[in-house]
Amino acid sequence: MERYDVVVVGAGPAGSLAARAAADGGATTLVLDHRPELGHPVQCGEFLPSAEELSDLFDCRSLIEAAYWIPPNTILRTTGWMRCVSPYGHRFRFPLSGFTVSRRAFDKALAVRAEGVGAELRYPTGVVRVLEDGVECADGRRIEAGVVIGADGPLSMVARSAGLVPPRTLFRMITATVDGPLEDGIDLFFGHCAPRGYAWVFPRATDANVGLGVAELPPGRSLDELLDEFLIEHELGPARERTRWWVPIGPPPTTLVRGRVLLAGDAANLVMATNGGGIPTAMLSGWLAGVAAARHVREGHPLADYDAAWKAALFEPLERAARIQRFGDRFAAFDPVLALGMRYIGASGLDAMMRLRWPSRLKRNS
Ligand SMILES: Cc1cc2nc3c(=O)[nH]c(=O)nc-3n(C[C@H](O)[C@H](O)[C@H](O)COP(=O)(O)OP(=O)(O)OC[C@H]3O[C@@H](n4cnc5c(N)ncnc54)[C@H](O)[C@@H]3O)c2cc1C
Repeated sequence: MERYDVVVVGAGPAGSLAARAAADGGATTLVLDHRPELGHPVQCGEFLPSAEELSDLFDCRSLIEAAYWIPPNTILRTTGWMRCVSPYGHRFRFPLSGFTVSRRAFDKALAVRAEGVGAELRYPTGVVRVLEDGVECADGRRIEAGVVIGADGPLSMVARSAGLVPPRTLFRMITATVDGPLEDGIDLFFGHCAPRGYAWVFPRATDANVGLGVAELPPGRSLDELLDEFLIEHELGPARERTRWWVPIGPPPTTLVRGRVLLAGDAANLVMATNGGGIPTAMLSGWLAGVAAARHVREGHPLADYDAAWKAALFEPLERAARIQRFGDRFAAFDPVLALGMRYIGASGLDAMMRLRWPSRLKRNS
């Protein structure tokens, strides 16, 4: 039987960062992914905040410097603001520096960087079971591992195997690309277009990523119908490359360690509940999992160190976001209440907005 110090399941952002940190820390590392092409199909809005914005949210600058690398050749557009649009069209715009990236190129670039420090990458290879001493692949092969890192996304098989699935709502998401618009900022639309969620238009290089996510579908409606209505209302389309997927929304879990298994990224439910963004937290948690795994196999440190590390860096902002999301959710289903709330936030300025999303710089602009 093959043996590695660390086996990482999933080569998304969490898995590739975990593999890079583990291999860099001297652990023999294997990454397995069941996709024939990494990063494809794209199931993402492809927006990332800049490292400076991320440092406003998470008080862990050195971790961000180590782990939050946006490969320059995957950037499609640099954006400078976010605009939130209420159900009745009132617009609230505030500065937010970030990027849209090609997720198809981004996931590959992160994986290649992990290979560059010695991680071995194998795909398409699905993992079907976590064993006492490793993992079992879809072809029946067993691979022994000192540590298994579950970075296998929102429906994580590793989390289920380890009995670590936290309470959460799986939001239903749909995304597509359309021609233009090509502004240097991102738009989020709230209300009937995406009940208890939001719709977005994010500019790429020569086209735009559009999509929406909802906690649950209105009776008798489908995600495609909601997207079609949104496109008609905003005179966008035709939609190409539609994909549907999930985002886990809920409070951060109490532990991400069981036996020799660690979880990171969406598998660990580490998504910013107020906006559904999960790539940065996937990268940061993946990195911390890889560091803890390497220290465990090389120097005998307890794997529980991972819990201490991710909680110090991520827990408080994620927990606060989950509380705000739960509070806002009471009003989000009713357009008039939501519109009123958004106008109130616009008028009352910085404090209220800070608790909604990226802090302290909201400017009413309607
Ligand atoms: C429509 C949509 C739009 C989004 N927009 C944004 C956005 O604009 N910005 C943002 O920050 N976040 C966004 N998110 C969330 C973001 O995509 C995720 O948080 C992020 O991809 C999590 O990274 P990850 O590495 O944890 O998991 P994933 O990116 O899901 O990677 C998991 C990997 O594991 C592999 N895998 C799964 N099961 C197995 C198995 N059994 N065996 C082997 N391999 C397996 C998969 O093939 C995949 O490559 C969006 C999500 C959706 C659905």
